[in-house]
Amino acid sequence: MPRSTTTLVVTSTEQLSPGMVRVHFRSDDLSAFTASADTDRYVKLVLGTPEEPVLRTYTVVAPDVAAGTLAIDFVVHGDEGYAGPWAASAKPGDVLEVRGPGGGYAPDPTADWHLLAGDEAGLPAIRAALAALPPDAVGYAVVEAYGADHVQSLTGPAGVEISWHHDGDLAGAVRALPWREGRVQVFVHGEAEVTMHGIRPYVIKERGVPRQDASISGYWRRGRTEEGFRSWKQELAATEG
Ligand SMILES: Cc1cc2nc3c(=O)[nH]c(=O)nc-3n(C[C@H](O)[C@H](O)[C@H](O)COP(=O)(O)OP(=O)(O)OC[C@H]3O[C@@H](n4cnc5c(N)ncnc54)[C@H](O)[C@@H]3O)c2cc1C
Repeated sequence: MPRSTTTLVVTSTEQLSPGMVRVHFRSDDLSAFTASADTDRYVKLVLGTPEEPVLRTYTVVAPDVAAGTLAIDFVVHGDEGYAGPWAASAKPGDVLEVRGPGGGYAPDPTADWHLLAGDEAGLPAIRAALAALPPDAVGYAVVEAYGADHVQSLTGPAGVEISWHHDGDLAGAVRALPWREGRVQVFVHGEAEVTMHGIRPYVIKERGVPRQDASISGYWRRGRTEEGFRSWKQELAATEG
């Protein structure tokens, strides 16, 4: 990921659902985002203190380099952690340093169909992917929300079936989808146990999707901070060789 640091200033906040807040920012210089075409583009927020910085990873929503604006959609998951509580109390004028962007996925217009799935942490990247799909794209977008009242507006091409679930079984929802013919491109991101152990083996092993057509990873891990989650990912990578 590029080491560029961008300074953002909060301009407003918007409650997207009872558990998610969109924070709008402006910046005098968003040039770091000029070349970023990945729809899952993310930044590292620099939180904590100057002596002990803490980094947290978030998807960037609609960066507009010319206008100097972007937004970030935060899951507000309680009092624990840094980023969730920061977003819950953000107000106009607050300043945030971010590093990046990084990214690794954009919809492939030559794929026969698309499978997008995730929980609310993955929703901003799913929404951006849906917006970038060609109008004749077909497939599924499956989102796990924390409850029926957490459902948000989400649109995409007419041929992409969008479904919301809130029974805590995203993997079951993905398995229940009729598997279509042809080459699929897959994008699955959310809680790590669910994505890495619940969905990835199904997609890669059972359905035989080549790794280069599958962007699947954990965005967070239940019961672990982002630091604890990073060491879990390293252990998993080492175990899998
Ligand atoms: C590439 C990438 C993009 C991401 N994009 C987004 C995004 O756009 N929006 C977004 O909200 N998140 C996103 N995430 C996930 C986000 O980085 C984590 O949720 C992060 O742990 C939040 O940091 P924190 O300081 O609030 O909590 P931490 O200090 O990391 O964790 C504190 C506690 O909160 C729990 N926790 C953390 N996240 C959640 C959650 N989502 N739901 C319930 N409990 C949680 C942890 O398990 C832990 O017990 C992304 C992650 C990656 C890797």
